[in-house]
Amino acid sequence: MFRLRSGKNKLNHFISRLEAETLAECPHGCPEQEDATHVLLYCQRYNEVRAKVEEKLSPLHTPLEATTLLGLNNSIPKHTHTNINIFHFLLIGNQTT
Ligand SMILES: [Zn+2]
Repeated sequence: MFRLRSGKNKLNHFISRLEAETLAECPHGCPEQEDATHVLLYCQRYNEVRAKVEEKLSPLHTPLEATTLLGLNNSIPKHTHTNINIFHFLLIGNQTT
């Protein structure tokens, strides 16, 4: 979670700054750089997971935003953040398979 918030993570946009041979683009066919915002909000690979998170957010009348997924939206209760932040762990699981 901290790595996604800080931008210092294992996504290509950050790694490409450290390793010249790594491209910043998304490895899932999107025409964008792979950074936390892209993965959380736009990457086609996570559309199904993202839809499930939107279902959880719907009763809270909270739009799907990076701050919410990163646990930084203070307008929703903390116990709800726990359920929403599971998105992060799903992302990690998908990246290692
Ligand atoms: Zn993508």
